[in-house]
Amino acid sequence: MTQSAFSYADDVLHVEGVSAASLADQFGTPLYVYSRSALTEAYRAYADACAGHRAKIHVAVKANSNLAVLNVFARLGAGFDIVSAGELARVLAAGGKAENTVFSGVGKTAAEMREALNAGVKCFNVESIPELHTLNDVAKAAGKTAPVSLRVNPDVDAKTHPYISTGLKSNKFGVAFADARATYAEAHAMPHLDVIGIDCHIGSQITEISPYLDAVDKLLDLVEQIEADGAQVRHVDVGGGLGITYDDETPPDIGEFVRTLLAHVKKRGHGQREVYFEPGRSLVGNAGVLLTRVEYLKPGEEKNFAIVDAAMNDLARPAMYEAFHRIVPVVKRAAQAQVYDVVGPVCESGDWLGRDRELAVEPGDLLAICSAGAYGFVMSSNYNTRPRAAEVMVDHERARLVREREEVKQLFAGESILPD
Ligand SMILES: *Cc1c(COP(=O)(O)O)cnc(C)c1O
Repeated sequence: MTQSAFSYADDVLHVEGVSAASLADQFGTPLYVYSRSALTEAYRAYADACAGHRAKIHVAVKANSNLAVLNVFARLGAGFDIVSAGELARVLAAGGKAENTVFSGVGKTAAEMREALNAGVKCFNVESIPELHTLNDVAKAAGKTAPVSLRVNPDVDAKTHPYISTGLKSNKFGVAFADARATYAEAHAMPHLDVIGIDCHIGSQITEISPYLDAVDKLLDLVEQIEADGAQVRHVDVGGGLGITYDDETPPDIGEFVRTLLAHVKKRGHGQREVYFEPGRSLVGNAGVLLTRVEYLKPGEEKNFAIVDAAMNDLARPAMYEAFHRIVPVVKRAAQAQVYDVVGPVCESGDWLGRDRELAVEPGDLLAICSAGAYGFVMSSNYNTRPRAAEVMVDHERARLVREREEVKQLFAGESILPD
């Protein structure tokens, strides 16, 4: 967690200059809270390391698509990486530009392609031959040429959780490495496509640089072949996936990661090419916390449970990936800590947020679930007809509501009953 943005003052957790306890009182819980300075600091770490190089940063919108978060990045000059037409609409609403946006995703529909082409996105990251055909047809009908990159699956092991590893042969993502050269030749021959780049994305929460270097090596080998076949590859997009510290992981820092990759590309003799980065988690993950209130303490024979008002519908990562999030008290108590499973009220045994946590808590206390800025709110649902949490952005001494808490009546506003 960024020390400066989330720290204790007089035993009360603060987000920049604002007490987390006062945020919970003002806006209610469960509550996502983001720090503008933490977002800015993470982005600057990428941007500073890219300065003076032919390199571009495209923020992966899916990690956190709140308009205020996207707007912070847009103001800093970021480009964006989207995976749906919905995300494109968010980018534009947040002040981002289509011409700085790349469109990723394994199942883009023709309608989404049309929208993105008309908006003028910078590049379509295409993942299969049928998708190339669809895009070529869409571009032809629109009287345009679509800029494309192929997402190549470099078959490297990113050494991360199987659900967030995407660069192995067995994954659904990308064009198989062995087929990539021929696929590029097909793309190059399509009259309404303009081949401009190559991309990969090998996984998420990656804590070592070596899988990236392996992937880049394979991509650059391929680039040489593709160019020998007559197409031009102006940019190499290394994807996202850099990990963060949730617990005791020690990922490379952002600057070191970027500098190592750029130096590697240069050393391989490809310094003239633009290098694209698509970071998500490493920009937003440790810039947000989820505040929740303890409803009940339930001692058990084998386990003690702290039942809180946030649940798997608010933060799915523990239930989905057995992910670890640090859980800390908002106001520290002097009392003796006990070991609790921190669980939500949803009717599923998978509804837990943390297991075997040492906490000194009483009912009514506030807890902060740390590192919740990435894949937190964006994965939330209304399961159990639970309205989604509110989101707040702190900027120095000020806190602003950046998404209202949902109301129950909104949850079934579009539903209707049979007339008879
Ligand atoms: C999810 C995704 C990213 C961002 O991944 P992080 O692990 O959050 O950095 C980047 N590019 C693509 C294509 C993605 O699908």
